[in-house]
Amino acid sequence: MVALDGPSGTGKSTVSRRLASALGAIYLDTGAMYRAITLAVLRAGADPSDSGAVIRVANGAELTMGTDPEQPAVLLGGADVSQEIRGPEVTGAVSAVSAVAEVRELLVRQQRELIDKALQEPGGIVVEGRDIGTVVVPDAKLKVFLTADAHARAQRRATQDLAEGRVSDLQQTHADVQRRDKLDSTRKVAPLRPAEDAVELDTTHLGVQEVLEQLHKLVESRGLLDGSGREDR
Ligand code: C5P
Repeated sequence: MVALDGPSGTGKSTVSRRLASALGAIYLDTGAMYRAITLAVLRAGADPSDSGAVIRVANGAELTMGTDPEQPAVLLGGADVSQEIRGPEVTGAVSAVSAVAEVRELLVRQQRELIDKALQEPGGIVVEGRDIGTVVVPDAKLKVFLTADAHARAQRRATQDLAEGRVSDLQQTHADVQRRDKLDSTRKVAPLRPAEDAVELDTTHLGVQEVLEQLHKLVESRGLLDGSGREDR
């Protein structure tokens, strides 16, 4: 399996999905899981900073993760919420929800189940998030931590928002990216940080294709995801 961690706007989602497609692997977007729980919290009218209420909603949420890298659907109570979880309301509240230890326990359990199942199949899995290499699968054979300077990350996020039809303002996106990174890297449980044995890749001056080339080299050098069947992580 490949664990891809890093802050937002580093190109993580794009390269994770493309890498998974190229390798015939399945794909798991763990950020989408925290976003879907956040959407459930907002829909329930609960306060994202009230951890008791957040835990109650999370325990009752029926979340189904699609793992096709070409079309990674996210279902909440059976309905597709893939678009809605990218909206500004969810983006603004997700860091508070993802800082709740019980929410993390619940989702990490689901993530490990999905990963274990995927590792029974040929092709393996590419998993993206913030704590995959440090907490979810600390024994992953390949851990990559993507970084990029804050300006480049804000610009990528804004471009992505525009391409997907969301209203976007560069200055606001810049502030949001920085606010979220600060919250994610300073929280008590599973903060955003590279695993000690992660390969750090600065994507500030790299295009998607160049990042993919580096990742393919790493995958090859670790003898991973060669389609030969069960792998030990
Ligand atoms: O990757 P994405 O921007 O969709 O992630 C949304 C939020 O989910 C992050 O800002 C972070 O708070 C949370 N997250 C997390 N752990 C992960 C993935 C995402 O805490 N493994």
